[in-house]
Amino acid sequence: MKKILFFLISIAFFLSFNLNSQEKKNLNVILMIGDGMGMSQITSGMYSLNNRTSLEKMPHIGISKTHSYSSLVTDSAAAGTAIACGEKTINGTLGINPQNKQLESILEISKDYGYKTGIIATSSIVHATPAAFYANVISRNQYEDIALQLSQNEVDFFVGGGRDYFTKRDDKRNLIKEMSDYDFVYSLKKFNESTSNKIGFFTSLGDPYRIIDGRKPKLSDAIEAMLDKISSYENPFFLVVESSQIDWAGHANDFNWINAEFREFDEAIQSAINFSNKNKNTLIIVTADHETGGLAITGGKVRRFTMRTKWGTIGHTAEMVPVFSTGPKSETFSGIYDNTDIFKKILNAIEN
Ligand SMILES: [Zn+2]
Repeated sequence: MKKILFFLISIAFFLSFNLNSQEKKNLNVILMIGDGMGMSQITSGMYSLNNRTSLEKMPHIGISKTHSYSSLVTDSAAAGTAIACGEKTINGTLGINPQNKQLESILEISKDYGYKTGIIATSSIVHATPAAFYANVISRNQYEDIALQLSQNEVDFFVGGGRDYFTKRDDKRNLIKEMSDYDFVYSLKKFNESTSNKIGFFTSLGDPYRIIDGRKPKLSDAIEAMLDKISSYENPFFLVVESSQIDWAGHANDFNWINAEFREFDEAIQSAINFSNKNKNTLIIVTADHETGGLAITGGKVRRFTMRTKWGTIGHTAEMVPVFSTGPKSETFSGIYDNTDIFKKILNAIEN
């Protein structure tokens, strides 16, 4: 009898130990970046949604200082590098610090911890923000070099535009042929149907359309399909999602475009929250790399939330940007800190 009891207690111990270590291992991370999404973009987008945003469901809020190594006003390459790799660098540079050292991104580090990795962008996949997570180049404009580095990196699943950078190249290489372990698909349906462990889904040959011109797939549909796929493994996952064109709309000082891109992003954030409600061990961080356009809401009516606006620039501004978070470790994202701390906080969440 004593022996049986001892045996049962041992099994209970073993099980609880395993459950604990699995819980630890399985912290999924979804990092969502609204490029150029400052407080005014969020505010106008929220009013255009009849005064609601899914960001209100995220309990922890921090503020990030966006300046780069070289300038108070950052570009997406330096800001992307700060968030992805934890070091400030010179504007225009991706994954290389001012001392010319190549940096490892949080996505690459997560792979060392057994994470599955994914990237979704509404720009081309070689654009500065997504590229900050896998590329090391002196200039963000080296699109063909960035494509080559993606082909040699090990991002398990990616969704974005820019197929031509892989196939119509100065060096005549066809990277899609070279990436023989990938299944390349051209629709969400095919993405869902694929059973490959590595999938590249090119949504366009060059830059994807604006959402107001009918860009497909919708970001929320892409993230839901991605989450289905990437969460189907034993491994935890690290997923980066960029709403790229909030920035482009800011450069164009186009108010309707910016609100439309925000509304699409807001829906995608809701999709991520829905996933985390069912998969509690998921940390979601929503932030921006910088503000674009110097947008100011200078007047308006509460009835129907009509707005009067002014733009300060067709470039970026030095404004701090918010960081929203929910899930395990999200409380560590409260406060005011440098954009490089986002990397450190995610690393800490992954390691502990
Ligand atoms: Zn920009």
